[in-house]
Amino acid sequence: MSEKAAVVLEAYTINGYQAPDHCESCDASVPDAEARRKHMEETRHRICSLCESYAPLGGYYVHCDERHYNDKWNDHMVAYTDSINMKESQQWAVEAIRKKRGGD
Ligand SMILES: [Zn+2]
Ligand SMILES: [Zn+2]
Repeated sequence: MSEKAAVVLEAYTINGYQAPDHCESCDASVPDAEARRKHMEETRHRICSLCESYAPLGGYYVHCDERHYNDKWNDHMVAYTDSINMKESQQWAVEAIRKKRGGD
């Protein structure tokens, strides 16, 4: 057995988003949507502060734009949160997003 299993980037859907089976922030194993929900509740990693649901790494701005168009949120603050999250997250998560963006 290898020490660290490869991350499955689109392991399941949660709150309408494809989510990896590891936490993007701390690399904890979150094999399913329920485990992820629990982990986010405990750690506040990758959670939207407005609706408490999963917001994908690098996708917080889009999340707010799509789901909170009636709520008050500061677009500079949200864009800043996105960029800080990118810096503080696991390398595999950041690379996956770069690849996705590059492939669009
Ligand atoms: Zn975490
Ligand atoms: Zn939200």
